[in-house]
Amino acid sequence: MLDVLRNIVLEVNAAESLDEVLTIIVSRVRMAMGTEVCSVYMRDRQEARYIFRATEGLNPDQVGKASLAPGEGLVGLVAEREEPVNLEDAERHPNFQLLPDIGEEPFHAFLGVPIIHQRMVLGVLVVQQKERRRFDESEEAFLVTMSAQLAGVIAHALVTGEVPDETNPQRDHMYSRISGVPGAPGVALGTAVVVSPVSDLYAVPRMIAEDRRAELRAFKRALSQVRIDIEAVAESLRDKLSPEDLALFDVYIGILDDSTIGGEVAALIKAGQWAQGALAQVMIEHIRHFEAMEHSYLRERAVDVKDLGERVLGYLQAEQREDQSFPDQTILVSEELTASMLGEIPRERLAGLVSVRGSSNSHVAILARAMGVPTVMGAVDLPYTRMRDMTLVVDGYNGNVHVNPTPPIQRRFQEIADQDVELNRDLEALRELPCVTQDDERLTLWVNTGLMADVARSLERGAEGVGLYRTEVTFLMRERFPSEEEQRQIYREQLEAFAPCPVTMRTLDVGGDKALPYFPIEEANPFLGWRGIRVTLDHPEILLAQVRAMLKANVGLGNLRIMLPMVSNIPELEEALALVYRSHRELEEEGIEATLPPIGVMVEVPSAVYQARALARRVDFLSVGSNDLTQYLLAVDRNNARVSDLYHAFHPAVLEALSQVAQGARAEGKQVSICGELAGNPMASVLLLAMGYDVLSMNATSLPRVKRAVRAITASDARRIWQEVRGLDSGAEVRERLDRFLSERDLRQIVPAPLD
Ligand code: PEP
Ligand code: MG
Repeated sequence: MLDVLRNIVLEVNAAESLDEVLTIIVSRVRMAMGTEVCSVYMRDRQEARYIFRATEGLNPDQVGKASLAPGEGLVGLVAEREEPVNLEDAERHPNFQLLPDIGEEPFHAFLGVPIIHQRMVLGVLVVQQKERRRFDESEEAFLVTMSAQLAGVIAHALVTGEVPDETNPQRDHMYSRISGVPGAPGVALGTAVVVSPVSDLYAVPRMIAEDRRAELRAFKRALSQVRIDIEAVAESLRDKLSPEDLALFDVYIGILDDSTIGGEVAALIKAGQWAQGALAQVMIEHIRHFEAMEHSYLRERAVDVKDLGERVLGYLQAEQREDQSFPDQTILVSEELTASMLGEIPRERLAGLVSVRGSSNSHVAILARAMGVPTVMGAVDLPYTRMRDMTLVVDGYNGNVHVNPTPPIQRRFQEIADQDVELNRDLEALRELPCVTQDDERLTLWVNTGLMADVARSLERGAEGVGLYRTEVTFLMRERFPSEEEQRQIYREQLEAFAPCPVTMRTLDVGGDKALPYFPIEEANPFLGWRGIRVTLDHPEILLAQVRAMLKANVGLGNLRIMLPMVSNIPELEEALALVYRSHRELEEEGIEATLPPIGVMVEVPSAVYQARALARRVDFLSVGSNDLTQYLLAVDRNNARVSDLYHAFHPAVLEALSQVAQGARAEGKQVSICGELAGNPMASVLLLAMGYDVLSMNATSLPRVKRAVRAITASDARRIWQEVRGLDSGAEVRERLDRFLSERDLRQIVPAPLD
């Protein structure tokens, strides 16, 4: 049974449209259950009805025509109750309603199960039989399992269906919003340019050829280039191989002949596909075909076909890159954006970035933050292959992509973008002004950095120091661990750039979703696994070298602070401190005049919240990593767009935890800061000020917004509002109240709140 289920899901996953998905479902489910009828009714959002969308066994002419309202008929009942209805004789049920012309009169037995995705009933899956009998428990359980498994695929196909492809006249009108996770803050309106990874047949977007003849010519050129390449290889091996072996190259070249694969690709191009898409489609089909062969010799041919396909694709892509033109406001879209893709487009034309895969810690997101390019990562439901030339809004503040935004949505985002421009214009003036409230309370604003490129932007925006320098970025960009001297030089640059302002360097924080290419960590549960301080305590040689490099870099400057990530208990902290002290001692013994800098702990695990005071007692400062703390408190993966609606930054539990940490630090007379994304939210800054935070550390883009908010309020008002929201039950209520607070002070516009 499991195999049947798995095969259906695999097949459905490979389907390209909702219709294809539903056709496969009705056919395979009917076969697997041995029933006479299987149909799917899908909810139509606009009409609020369940439309008869696919069938095997009933009248296919009625597909798309017949429909039922919620609660109407047995299908409506299943949808309304959100549970299966299993009947021996459907007509005898009071809710039964015959749909004229669909031809269900002869069928008595009825089993309908709802298709539910993220609490929404998407449709109803029904099987029917002539024989009057109740479907048994195992059949019911099978259909329920099937439906639950298919719901995600159907939901994805639905979203895809809302985004029309190039053959659809609605293409430029249908609006949809796709969730991802914030990659880099800011908003951008622009035109999508889809880029694909080099020579990956499986990542080629399907697109319509703009000029079929030109595509055909490009394909022929690429083919002959590959032929020349292979002939050259054969020639170079002429002395080393027998004529028989050399003949293999002829076979190889023959695969690309006009009569075989080459001919199929050409036919698809003539039918309207662009060359890369046609090539990928044909090659993938042939690869699948060879892979399924029993004979191992033939199976091996799949590798040859793939290699040839990739070679031809490489030439096509090279030619495309040469001809590629980028619109003024380009939004680069890809299945997986890489740092090198950014290099292909002139900076002044790049407005935004969208990647279907990846997280806020991917290289490209790190670069985008440093460059100030609004970015959404992990937009898993985005049908990226259809995005060419579409108008998009990238909302890097909230992690959403708006496809074909309506005029009001465009206006709203334009306002936010204008605000950013205005703030940037005022930056000069704002930079010189202190971050003080109307009643003279001071809040220090620092920045988070990772690359040297962050430095200039940070200083431009009036940063008073660095609250989090992510040292792992240096480690990520290499092919091996950087040596102590390499690290020293890099750290020195950061320290010098900000001196005499403080720079808080975090010791290596890898694991979770931050993997070093040369130090793979494979775990079932990486966020609960070997990450942060756990890794470096198990590898003291890494920590010692890093701390030595930091201390040496600090000689003569004295603006270094060291911070330890992911600490979850006191012994861990004590061990880490012992290693830091040891490094310091060793340097002293070597005659280097290193000073012991302030040392702090990140509070990003719930246990550290409850031990905030005990931790604070042992160090010089606490800094809350609210990104991780929120994900651990709420058990919501910070990089999973499917649960991003549950990632409530203003959840009362998160706010209480933040307050408790501030109290713990203050009780010990220690500085307390926050360096997660929350710090860059102007709404949150009101509460953090009231809770007693001394420092907010954020990305440079958000700094002017936060400064403007703080300068416009009084600390006593902030305290009052904090006491008020403390009694509220949900994050949504807190947000609403804060929204009002800011509106009353004419500050509402500076909050890039999500648009629904
Ligand atoms: C955090 O967790 O809030 C934090 C600042 O660290 P990172 O985002 O690098 O995990
Ligand atoms: Mg963290």
